[in-house]
Amino acid sequence: MSTKHSKAAEAYLKDDAVVTRHDQTFFGVRQKRDRMAQALPEWEDLREAASQIKKHTETHLADYLEQFEQNALQNGVHVHWAQDADEYNRIVFDILSQHNVKKVVKSKSMLTEECHLNENLEAKGIEVVETDLGERILQMMKLAPSHIVMPALHVHREEIGDTFRRLIPDFNEIAATYSAVGGSPADKNDPTFLTYVARMHLRQQFAEADCGMTGANFGIAATGDVVVCTNEGNADMSTSIPKLHIVSMGIEKLIPDYQAMGVFQRLLARCGTGQETTVYTSHFRGPRPGGEMHIVLVDNGRSEIIGNPEHWQTLKCMRCGACMNTCPVYRRSAGYSYTYFIPGPVGVNLGMLRDPHQYYDNVSACSLCCSCDNVCPVKVDLSTQIYRWRQQLESLGHANKMKKMMSKGMSCMFNHPKVYKGALWMSPVANWVPGPLMNLKLNPWAYGHKMMKFPKKSFHQLWKKEKL
Ligand code: SF4
Ligand code: SF4
Repeated sequence: MSTKHSKAAEAYLKDDAVVTRHDQTFFGVRQKRDRMAQALPEWEDLREAASQIKKHTETHLADYLEQFEQNALQNGVHVHWAQDADEYNRIVFDILSQHNVKKVVKSKSMLTEECHLNENLEAKGIEVVETDLGERILQMMKLAPSHIVMPALHVHREEIGDTFRRLIPDFNEIAATYSAVGGSPADKNDPTFLTYVARMHLRQQFAEADCGMTGANFGIAATGDVVVCTNEGNADMSTSIPKLHIVSMGIEKLIPDYQAMGVFQRLLARCGTGQETTVYTSHFRGPRPGGEMHIVLVDNGRSEIIGNPEHWQTLKCMRCGACMNTCPVYRRSAGYSYTYFIPGPVGVNLGMLRDPHQYYDNVSACSLCCSCDNVCPVKVDLSTQIYRWRQQLESLGHANKMKKMMSKGMSCMFNHPKVYKGALWMSPVANWVPGPLMNLKLNPWAYGHKMMKFPKKSFHQLWKKEKL
């Protein structure tokens, strides 16, 4: 009955300390989000407004895209349209080639992960440096993000210290200046010390780069602004020194105007990290004096999703990560157990929309507890969509044979009262079976679970007796 996800999760679950830390860390973020939500009496109104604005925008997307393009052009920005990942990579490479760019500094963007931009540019001899601290750590360690907002939260500081010492060429020179600014590391992996090293290392990269790339949290149709939210100011640093700025933006990131922005601004950080707002909310409206700004609007399958009546709501997602933080399966199996590059509830759905034959195994990574639906700031119906995907597994040719057999057995039992009553009558016998005999491959439920004790009398028997 194993899937790729369940096998990877099984391996991950072997280290109890790691799992507990991961689970508690992300549940802590979920609890922070709850405190933020409870502090705003209008919270549910905000969620409803955000959901309706997204619905309105996605269903009038062509109009808003044209409005956005017109305003951006008037602001002196070059606007490009990419139908898919290949076209997007080509457009970015062409812009970089025209400017003879050798080094790009880049703030966090899941769209560039989706389109494999870094690999593409590096294959063509252009160095790409991630400037979000978590992303930079992962880039040095050659790892993928494990979460969309806190991509390296699973990495220990000892591993980070070790990576910095090995891969930052001037690590010792930077470390030597730490005492000059009043620092004294309690140990060589002290987080404040490592952050200082990262900051000095990244400053060098900002100074050397010929181009700064950012993603976009929102595009504002009424003004042509691109809004980027970060906690480290790295998007601002990436665009402050290089004269060339390229924005990568999925077409679903559009919102109508500043009034709408006010709604999303109040929700994004509260849901994602439990902060009232991100430390930096930067609006980019035009090129710097003497510079150039390009916006690449990327479709890459989004238009098809809008036309999908059962799954269009996935496009409302604003990538806050709250559904991952609350998901009991994500918290206890972690990002790398999923086969799609975006894990957790929204990743399960996005993966299926990308390629159901490649990513179908992730739909089993769900207990259908519906917690993701309840925290999502834009009310994406995540669990309903996962349930729908499961109903489609048979027609996709990926239904699990063992589960099908068990479903038939259950159907037979529930359709024959005598068989059902007989099974109930026999069930207390399971209480006498020694534990090791229950913990078999045939009984995957027993992994990580203590088998329940069956009561001596069934509910039906007790009910009958009470009525008598
Ligand atoms: S419904 Fe599924 S995906 Fe959503 S939180 Fe629960 S277990 Fe996770
Ligand atoms: S689906 Fe909702 S909760 Fe999940 S990342 Fe997107 S906006 Fe956040």
